[in-house]
Amino acid sequence: MKTKVKNLTETKRLAIKLAKELKAGDVVLLNGDLGAGKTTFVRYILRYLKVKAVINSPTFAILKTYYGKFVFHHFDFYRINTDEAIEAGFDEVLSNPTAIKFVEWGQNVQPLLPDNAIKINMKFIADKTREIEIKNIKLKG
Ligand code: ADP
Ligand code: MG
Repeated sequence: MKTKVKNLTETKRLAIKLAKELKAGDVVLLNGDLGAGKTTFVRYILRYLKVKAVINSPTFAILKTYYGKFVFHHFDFYRINTDEAIEAGFDEVLSNPTAIKFVEWGQNVQPLLPDNAIKINMKFIADKTREIEIKNIKLKG
């Protein structure tokens, strides 16, 4: 599905719809330019799934792990490539069957990503308007 959201409230509503369908083991890829809203979208999902910790961009840490209704791994591969990711053991974290994994800049580690990953494309349209496309999962309502 592809939709236009007009403000943060609508982004949150869509994030919660997706959160309700997520299962242990899922990989969620988020694509879109800087400021498109990738981290914001992940934050709304994690909040809904009972993560109480502060949620911000994992750009410098590469990986942040959160605990709520599931274990969550939030990656940002902006600064590293596939070989470096394997060296750091991120391939194993990515295939953890009991956690839900969110991936920003997945194009940098393409060989490590599963074919069945849920794909989200976010596009800046204007100030508070974004186009959000979600593929590989059915949303209800
Ligand atoms: P990214 O992770 O893609 O670089 P961020 O989530 O860090 O993007 O930043 C998105 C910025 O855009 C935030 O400051 C957020 O408040 C703002 N924003 C405004 N409107 C929206 C919207 N409808 N959906 C998502 N973010 C929005
Ligand atoms: Mg981000």
